[in-house]
Amino acid sequence: RDHAERLRDRTGKSKQFFERASEVTPLGVESNVRAFDPYPFYVEEADGSYLYDMDGNEYLDFLLALGPIILGHGHPEVKEAVKEQVDTCDLTATPQPIAVEFMEKVAEMTPSIERVRLANSGSEATMHAMRVARSYTGNDKIAKPEGGYAGAHDYALQSVYASEEALGPADEPNTVSYGTGIPDAVSETVVAFPFNDEEATEKILREHADDLAAVIIEPVMFSCGCLKPEDGYHEFLRELTEELGIVLIWDEVMTGFRLGPQSAQGRFGITPDMTTFAKAAGGGYQMAGFGGKAEIMEEIVPPRKEEASKWNSSAFHGGTYNGHPVSAAAGLKTLEILDERDVYDHIEEMGDRLFGGLQEVADDVGIDANVQHVGSMGQVYMTDAEIRRYRDSWKANEDQFADWWLEAAGRGVLFGNPMQGERFFTTYTHTDEQIDRALEVAEDAFRAVDH
Ligand code: PLP
Repeated sequence: RDHAERLRDRTGKSKQFFERASEVTPLGVESNVRAFDPYPFYVEEADGSYLYDMDGNEYLDFLLALGPIILGHGHPEVKEAVKEQVDTCDLTATPQPIAVEFMEKVAEMTPSIERVRLANSGSEATMHAMRVARSYTGNDKIAKPEGGYAGAHDYALQSVYASEEALGPADEPNTVSYGTGIPDAVSETVVAFPFNDEEATEKILREHADDLAAVIIEPVMFSCGCLKPEDGYHEFLRELTEELGIVLIWDEVMTGFRLGPQSAQGRFGITPDMTTFAKAAGGGYQMAGFGGKAEIMEEIVPPRKEEASKWNSSAFHGGTYNGHPVSAAAGLKTLEILDERDVYDHIEEMGDRLFGGLQEVADDVGIDANVQHVGSMGQVYMTDAEIRRYRDSWKANEDQFADWWLEAAGRGVLFGNPMQGERFFTTYTHTDEQIDRALEVAEDAFRAVDH
């Protein structure tokens, strides 16, 4: 059975456009994760909970731009803030009050952030946070959980999306680059450990303690679906990194301002030394950053500025577009709304209904599925196996997931994108009726896949 048939039947213009796009850009897309078989559809409009492609098809959206769209597409007040900023002042590469106001709001809402700097993507944020941690400790190595995606730069693309053969022993994973073009020397500065395995994590971190600058970790590993931390794991890691003098960086690119006004760190009651954020912080505009203890962030600006030579001995952070005023205006308005209104109650209620409903529907149809979620974010693993650690996620049937996704997309509902290692979201504009419709479509799509 051809699971792409429905989608293909209604996306003739996208198919043609894909051919044109493939002449100018590899895979016909601007970013690898947007490509899928047989071809992607190109979206021209977005409004509230919906996307509209160039053939005029409507999609009920749970992809939500991979996370940033937390208030729905085109929230009127965010749009207004953007328009006002566009009319007032574009990029100047001088500091602007709007960026400072945005950073004040980030620091006010985020327990671990005393000082903050801005960037344009989660990848830039993790890259800079790693550098600052190296500068602070004088050590070169970074530890990260296997399977965790911390961005598209060389130091982050280590031991992510790797095979069992490449990763080797579960209690002492190898560090392997994802894809080609990354120097081996980079892998030598990264240490992988298994999330949720206290014994192995402790052994590995103690073994490398003298060389480690930082542990970078997602509070919930949404970068490989939805791996929840086991009770005590983050407390254990907080204590161990403190004891060993390793900077603990929480990569809240996905969870930041999504799992609550104080992000995952407020929700779980753990204060890391540094935090990265992006996605929801910009409300759909390009915004990211990193921050943490003043003492650590001072690595960027040495306290004794009067010594000119000191400027060379500090960790560099810069970027022409950092704190872009339009993004800062969108981000500030988004954070104000998140802080003041009932957004989290709503998106989490929708999340409970959506992800709880998907489990029920899969069970009714007789599909082996394990739906895991935290708040407004979750994933359907096509297996009835328990998913506690990254390697458990390999038990899920990726092809069946992609087939289910295609069947649902062909019926006008986007459950994220067609990769088992992704996840999807609820947003402020989702309604009970929309969730009901999504569940009906999910059920039809489950029935349409082989099981
Ligand atoms: N860190 C985490 C946990 C992510 O999920 C992502 C992206 O999905 C990144 C970093 C990189 O962010 P960006 O895609 O904005 O570069």
